[in-house]
Amino acid sequence: MKYAKLKNGKIEILTCKKPKLDSKGAIIKVLGCGLCGSDLVKIKHANKNNEDKIILGHEVVGIIDEINSDITTFKIGDIIALGHHYPCFKCEFCKNESYSMCKTFKKSNIYPAGFAQYIKVDDNHLKYTVYKMNPTLKDDEKAFLEPLSCCIRAIKRAGFKYGIDNSKSSALVIGVGSIGLLMLKGLKAFKVNAFGLDISKERQELANKEGCNFIKNNKYDTIFLTAGNSKTIETALEYIIDGGKIIVFSSVEDDLSGFSNNEIYYRELSIISSYSPSPSDIKLSAKLLNENIVKVNNLSTYYSLDNLAYAVDDSFKNKIFKAYIKI
Ligand SMILES: [Zn+2]
Ligand SMILES: [Zn+2]
Repeated sequence: MKYAKLKNGKIEILTCKKPKLDSKGAIIKVLGCGLCGSDLVKIKHANKNNEDKIILGHEVVGIIDEINSDITTFKIGDIIALGHHYPCFKCEFCKNESYSMCKTFKKSNIYPAGFAQYIKVDDNHLKYTVYKMNPTLKDDEKAFLEPLSCCIRAIKRAGFKYGIDNSKSSALVIGVGSIGLLMLKGLKAFKVNAFGLDISKERQELANKEGCNFIKNNKYDTIFLTAGNSKTIETALEYIIDGGKIIVFSSVEDDLSGFSNNEIYYRELSIISSYSPSPSDIKLSAKLLNENIVKVNNLSTYYSLDNLAYAVDDSFKNKIFKAYIKI
């Protein structure tokens, strides 16, 4: 079977044996996999020493091809989407609800990569991170399970609870790329007054179309930084209310510049980060997508596995909004 791997800084489509179901879990025939911003960061920072460990692709949608599991929810032929990491629920990090810092979470993954014809998932994946998806959704829409769950975690870490009226709160999302737009949609599902800001006219229009027009004279209670640029912290400080929360949700190239100690201190701002989703976030993400509460239609551009390198290139050049690799 085919799978994608980095070799000498380049994406190569290699062949390997189909994974064996030699322990509890399932083999998934991959239908497709979304290209995540974090894949792009990994590709950009790959070098000889780390590229062997890099697993490309995790926003997987597929069909259960073989199964040997204690989890009775699934059977062969089920169409599923998944998250790739699960926590142990026992360690100090997990007890502190800091699941993405758990050692088991960091170690757990799908095999050999999301951009592959078949993958192996284990029983804990089936228990905590795999969901049957509504067949009326297109495959690229199903693949939004994991990225939407990342946004849900950030929204929850900002203090919002699902199912209650948060409309007295205003949130500004800085950076309306695919993850920023998803954050806006997530915030709306949480009934937060959501606003989007982007330097690109085209992307600003996307936010406006979502009903999230940026209002210059407003101050916002909570600001989500979804763009990988340290300048955004200055913009956040300009628009945040005193005592407000800034959620850091992306890496930046030039670390540390823009850290405004005194402004954060005197204005009593809270800086919170959010990295990767917990099983409960994935569960809510599946509900929001499957029940059409969050709609993600017409966001993806399709590529074949053989053309993954083009998808990466087009993403780096901002030619497309979100790449979906049909396998
Ligand atoms: Zn992702
Ligand atoms: Zn743990």
